[in-house]
Amino acid sequence: MAVPAKRVQYSYDYRGRMVRRQVFSGTYNAGPPSTINWSSTPDTAAGADLIFLYDGWQCVAALKPDQSLFQAYVWGADLSGTMGGAGGVGGLVMFRRVVAGGGTETYFSTYDGNGNVTGLVKGEDAGVSSSAGSVSARYEYGPFGTLLRISGEPVALDNPFRFSTKYHDDTADLMYYGFRYYNPSTGRWLSRDPLEEKGGFNLYGFVYNNPQRYSDPLGLRIYITAPPVGGLDYTRFDDYVLNGFQRIIGDCAKLRKTPIIRQVETGFLFWKKTETRLLGWELDFTDQKLNCVCSPCWKWLKLALGDHLPKKDIYIHRGDELDNASEFRDNIYINENLSFELPTLDASGNVVWENAPFDVVLWHEVIGHGYRDLKHPKDRSNRQGGGGRDPTIVEENNARNCLRLQGVRINDRVPTYYRWKNSLRTCN
Ligand SMILES: [Zn+2]
Repeated sequence: MAVPAKRVQYSYDYRGRMVRRQVFSGTYNAGPPSTINWSSTPDTAAGADLIFLYDGWQCVAALKPDQSLFQAYVWGADLSGTMGGAGGVGGLVMFRRVVAGGGTETYFSTYDGNGNVTGLVKGEDAGVSSSAGSVSARYEYGPFGTLLRISGEPVALDNPFRFSTKYHDDTADLMYYGFRYYNPSTGRWLSRDPLEEKGGFNLYGFVYNNPQRYSDPLGLRIYITAPPVGGLDYTRFDDYVLNGFQRIIGDCAKLRKTPIIRQVETGFLFWKKTETRLLGWELDFTDQKLNCVCSPCWKWLKLALGDHLPKKDIYIHRGDELDNASEFRDNIYINENLSFELPTLDASGNVVWENAPFDVVLWHEVIGHGYRDLKHPKDRSNRQGGGGRDPTIVEENNARNCLRLQGVRINDRVPTYYRWKNSLRTCN
């Protein structure tokens, strides 16, 4: 018996989300030369032609080609403790499928500690003979996500969100991670890391070859990397950055850093060896509060932390250069020993000179230049003190306001770009 010839065709929307999946069948011609004749219309089997609807990066429904419901998915807090902060890993609460006759069946997912779906428990549905509360499906996985054991078909396979709560395409044996497809049988991605070599030298490697310990969310974040410079150690700089952001967002969420650990090859020939190294930290959060004092600041930081599709990855490096973000906006060099004066406005609107706290400079560089891609006005008159508001400084003032809301005594920066004669350093 020949293996059926199948072709899976995916379509994407403007954000790169898979919005349609169609399976086509082919028939073999023995030849020679042997060929496959592909059907020009998708298969008619249930689920062979689907349209996907999204809320951010979370797929909330799969529709049939006539736009009637095929399946619906309800998402809650994922492994990060927030909606989608961990790319939805561990966040699928409920899955509903349409059954013959038009009714629906509801199932709740159970998880292991890594956010892999380990089972489905049936819910109660009106009009459908149910065995509410019973375990309807069980899954067991190999270390790289291959399905080793499954029970409870057909519903067990109808639910596409299984290993790492990612969409599993059984026809293609691929898992959809948003930015890339992963093949669990080979433990490898199909395409290169969108981070390129910044994500490690193995561009196709899956979570440092350690899926027991790590899971891959969407893969775009704020990273802190800090090669030790001038006696101040690594950890301390990372804490400066972490605490700097934490002070600005206050009680909105609890920031934390997770280590980026990689195997690094050193030496050559006989001296070649592999070492495990801490290459930096990834910023992350838990305990989000929806109504908090510094919501505007939290909104921007959260976007930069990757809760929704962020614009880019941002790397914060320890270095003497300041405002390198203007040239390379995903690479920000910042010095924790910042103590230079900037023109600020006191309560009566007079210009006074005050030291810029690290938190504020961090915000200016990372959120202003790095994440929001704001620039300082380039025209000369403005630099000389002419009119025009500087959007980066307006953003910096949001951070200053957030600090004030938390009782820090701090003035607003002069919102216009001035090339002040006596300033020690200015941004360009
Ligand atoms: Zn600047």
